Amino acid sequence: MSTDPTCLFCKIVRGEIPASEVFRDADVVAFHDLNPQAPQHVLVIPTEHAANLSAFARTASAHAAQRLLQVCGEIGSSLGPAGYRVVTNEGGHAGQTVHHLHFHVLAGREMSWPPG
Ligand code: AMP
Ligand code: ZN
Repeated sequence: MSTDPTCLFCKIVRGEIPASEVFRDADVVAFHDLNPQAPQHVLVIPTEHAANLSAFARTASAHAAQRLLQVCGEIGSSLGPAGYRVVTNEGGHAGQTVHHLHFHVLAGREMSWPPG
């Protein structure tokens, strides 16, 4: 398995730092965001390290990509029956701070558009 020894989210995948996990299998881990931006805010990540969505798109197996999207949809629909949002930030202009691909699944409040 491809992991980065210095990556914060790889450490969560390996169980080296704690997280409030809501889902885990061989391909995907999901856990509550430490600094929630909505009443429900879960991060969904691939267990294989990829720095961002572009890197994941180049390197991931079709199975890993399928599982990541499936888990986002399953968690989103369970946390947000009235609606939810899935976001990934890539690069400085988008505000990415952790360089391991993660989808934010946000629910539990009305959200505005366009996003800030
Ligand atoms: P981004 O700014 O899109 O890279 O999002 C990174 C997210 O990771 C932020 O929403 C942080 O609150 C969250 N975060 C950082 N460290 C942790 C951690 N140890 N456990 C859970 N969430 C974290
Ligand atoms: Zn990583």
